[in-house]
Amino acid sequence: MEQTEVERLDRISAHLHALLHQGQSGLLDLAGEPEDEIRQVGEFVNSLAEALSGLTHAAHHLSIGDMDVPIIAKLPASHHLKNLQATLRHLTWQTGQIAKGDFSQRVEFLGDFSQSFNWMVEQLEAYRQRILGQNRELERLATTDPLTGVYNRRYFMDFATKEYLRSQRYAHLFSVIQMDIDHFKKINDTHGHAVGDEVLKAFTLTCQEALRESDVLGRIGGEEFSIILPETEKEGALIVAERIRRSIAELKVDENDQRIHFTVSSGVTNLRPDDRGIEAVLRRGDEALYLAKNGGRNKVFFAE
Ligand code: GH3
Ligand code: MG
Ligand code: MG
Repeated sequence: MEQTEVERLDRISAHLHALLHQGQSGLLDLAGEPEDEIRQVGEFVNSLAEALSGLTHAAHHLSIGDMDVPIIAKLPASHHLKNLQATLRHLTWQTGQIAKGDFSQRVEFLGDFSQSFNWMVEQLEAYRQRILGQNRELERLATTDPLTGVYNRRYFMDFATKEYLRSQRYAHLFSVIQMDIDHFKKINDTHGHAVGDEVLKAFTLTCQEALRESDVLGRIGGEEFSIILPETEKEGALIVAERIRRSIAELKVDENDQRIHFTVSSGVTNLRPDDRGIEAVLRRGDEALYLAKNGGRNKVFFAE
């Protein structure tokens, strides 16, 4: 501290002392420079009191979560409070982001709180991943056939209904193939139910090889399967059905030293402008399938 500053403080201190002991020491000489010094101290104390009161007010509002309270940066402590306010605002924003599903948010520079907060976010992300995985598994179980892994009747009917509505709305086309394995009961009776199951699996694998990504194969009953072929006309559907028929006729399933041959019959149709629902399309496919069975099996029939 400079000498003059020390002297100034000494004089202020002396005058304050005099003021405090005014009653004992008689009259105080308030004339001249020292009075001025005291006046300056008074102003300083007043503005200090004002700043402290503002700080208390801001601290109180911040403590009850009011993050918009203005903080006038007069004292060093105000800067800390302003930093805390900015941190709380950012934390509030981050929490909102996490609520929206952004689990990349992390808190830094808040010591133990950062650790706990970041751990909480990591746990939330882990829970979400686990739930998403379980949902996928539940979805798979609810929509597929456990033996063959192809879609079950419920999923297939949902998909077919949606495809019908979509095609109506956008004037698109789709085709349907109704399939039934020929004399399947005989395979069971001759080779056993377990071999029958293997035949069903081999059948769906062969079908899938003949299909596009957008085609949907479903197991409708025991040895009855259906395919929806979106955006596919008669010719395309007949090619697919014929390819499946031929592949199945050429397929050899080897089980317990037994070689099993089998065939499939198919009824093919496509959406017509006068169809009043997906049921009408599927029924026409069934009629074509019936004709294929009566026509000697291992055949593909088309219903106009
Ligand atoms: P068709 O040529 O007229 O279709 O004769 P089919 O023997 O294939 O027809 P049918 O309806 O008489 O027999 C179907 C058989 O499919 C009867 C049933 O026991 C069997 N089946 C149904 N579901 C399963 C299954 O999950 N596994 C096995 N192994 N057999 C099944
Ligand atoms: Mg059948
Ligand atoms: Mg059959």
